[in-house]
Amino acid sequence: MLYLKKQLDSLFKEGNQMDLRIGDIIRLKKPHPCGSSEWEILRVGMDFRLKCMGCGHLVMLPRKEVEKKIRQVKRPAGEANGAEE
Ligand SMILES: [Zn+2]
Repeated sequence: MLYLKKQLDSLFKEGNQMDLRIGDIIRLKKPHPCGSSEWEILRVGMDFRLKCMGCGHLVMLPRKEVEKKIRQVKRPAGEANGAEE
């Protein structure tokens, strides 16, 4: 599944937070210096731990920063429907 930023608000907003999950691949506005702008979410919470899909670089970003910079969310098929406990 691929979601564009304009869809995110309706699809992902729960309360004040976007519903972003571990394993989601997100595309940010600004590419990493390695050229990739896709990041895998490794940890969620107050701060997100993201892994660059291009070079494997790990970063911590506050949730607010992630929500502000995000442009797309790719969620592996199958996880969006019925994977929740
Ligand atoms: Zn990189």
